[in-house]
Amino acid sequence: MTSDGRVSQVQRTSEGASHRPYVEARRLTKVYRTPAGEFTALKGIDLQVQRGEFVAVIGKSGSGKSTLINLLTGIDRPTAGEVIIGGEPLHTYDEEQLAAWRGRNMGIVFQFFQLLPTLTLVENVMLPMDINRLYPPAERRERAMLLLEMVELAEQAGKRPSQVSGGQQQRVAIARALANDPGLLIADEPTGNLDSATAESIFGLFARLAAEGTTILMVTHDETLAARTHRAVMIADGEVVNEHVSRALWVLNYDQLAEVQRHVTPITYAPGSVIIRQGEMGEHFYILTGGRADVFVEHPDGHEMPVDHLRAGQYFGEMALIGRQARRATVRAADDGPVEVAALDRAAFNALVEASPGLRHELQRVISLRQLQSEVDALQDVDRATLQRLTADAPTRLIAPGETIIRRGELGETFYFILEGAVEVFAGRNGQEALIDRLGPGAHFGELALLGNRRRVATVRAAGDGPARLIELDETAFAQLRQLSARFAGQVEQTAAERQARI
Ligand code: ADP
Ligand code: MG
Repeated sequence: MTSDGRVSQVQRTSEGASHRPYVEARRLTKVYRTPAGEFTALKGIDLQVQRGEFVAVIGKSGSGKSTLINLLTGIDRPTAGEVIIGGEPLHTYDEEQLAAWRGRNMGIVFQFFQLLPTLTLVENVMLPMDINRLYPPAERRERAMLLLEMVELAEQAGKRPSQVSGGQQQRVAIARALANDPGLLIADEPTGNLDSATAESIFGLFARLAAEGTTILMVTHDETLAARTHRAVMIADGEVVNEHVSRALWVLNYDQLAEVQRHVTPITYAPGSVIIRQGEMGEHFYILTGGRADVFVEHPDGHEMPVDHLRAGQYFGEMALIGRQARRATVRAADDGPVEVAALDRAAFNALVEASPGLRHELQRVISLRQLQSEVDALQDVDRATLQRLTADAPTRLIAPGETIIRRGELGETFYFILEGAVEVFAGRNGQEALIDRLGPGAHFGELALLGNRRRVATVRAAGDGPARLIELDETAFAQLRQLSARFAGQVEQTAAERQARI
């Protein structure tokens, strides 16, 4: 144990000179031969884990998580592919070499603890030291006691596994896994058999070890635990789901992500090349998985206006598929490097949107934001993150043709941008209602009550020829937007003055 209380001899952070990943699986394949025939449980997995990373492996039952873990630990042999850990090509090692390497470098924790029932807890922890002989016999018990102290079980050291609880047995199993001070800890559902409070304490132990520099690969069913690691690798049907895809489509569940994985096609675009072009009909939805892309709106005079920049983990192309309209912007690979995307065709995308209310809602929110940014000229100087924050709680309203949105004389506390469709504005003239204006996408209304005496001075309805989609801001968001953007504030004041004059 070091002076600061760590049960570790090595200063792992000083080893980071090499950029090679610590754990590397290359095209890792496992075919099980069963009486019923061959079953491919892993389909050529590539995985890299850097030294010091705490990585969760997630995915539904039967997806191949344990198979992957068993190949990485050398408990089972790959049918094809390579396992390289700390630069050592473990797939080429024989059983004896493997056992020796594993004992020194890797701690393994299973779902069902697997302590030896006839040994006491401290003897269980000493076992790997006895086998690998990295510590002199005289030091082993003391070191085992320090490890038990770390997992808060020193007082139970003389008991047998059956005399302590499941959570305590798992803590002993972790202490045992750390006996030879391994750089890598691999755990297959270590909390899978524990109640949630106990699972939390076990996870806390892993988190502490990770903070001290141990590289950890942990299979878990628990998505909230997975979200607390550095990174989650999702396995579906024996394949790794691209991490940017799962991040971009975080609202989907395991089954839906597995479905995406089955349908996506990876495509690479050269620097500067066009991925989708404004005006063309869209057939694909894209998730950016590498590089950067720029989004432009092309104006009739030929000039291109940049409206957005995209990076890995963001998606595009959804608007044309949802609205069944031509692409509203051009997306081009940035000049500084190639762009990689995962493309999903229209049918697969539609099926996904159909199956997931969460995704529908999320897409709608993103679309509203993009429309706001591309339609409302006055918001062009507000950066995307700010706009996203200000509109996070702003509802999008779909108004039926002819339906009233605000009514003259009523108190008004809201402000509207038009995203799609049109609205008509009616003022009172000689006791009669008169149409005084028609507003389309990008226009706003509702500001007069907020800037004036609170009463609506006109009635606004969705135009009779189609529905209108609006985004509704409350007073606070409206005020913040005016404060943030001089351009927006100026435009609101100008239109307010013009409208006041007309009414
Ligand atoms: P997970 O840990 O994600 O639940 P596994 O890696 O245990 O999944 O299993 C992946 C798939 O391989 C499953 O369909 C499982 O039935 C199959 N499988 C696992 N082990 C064997 C085996 N020894 N023989 C045949 N099939 C197996
Ligand atoms: Mg498993």
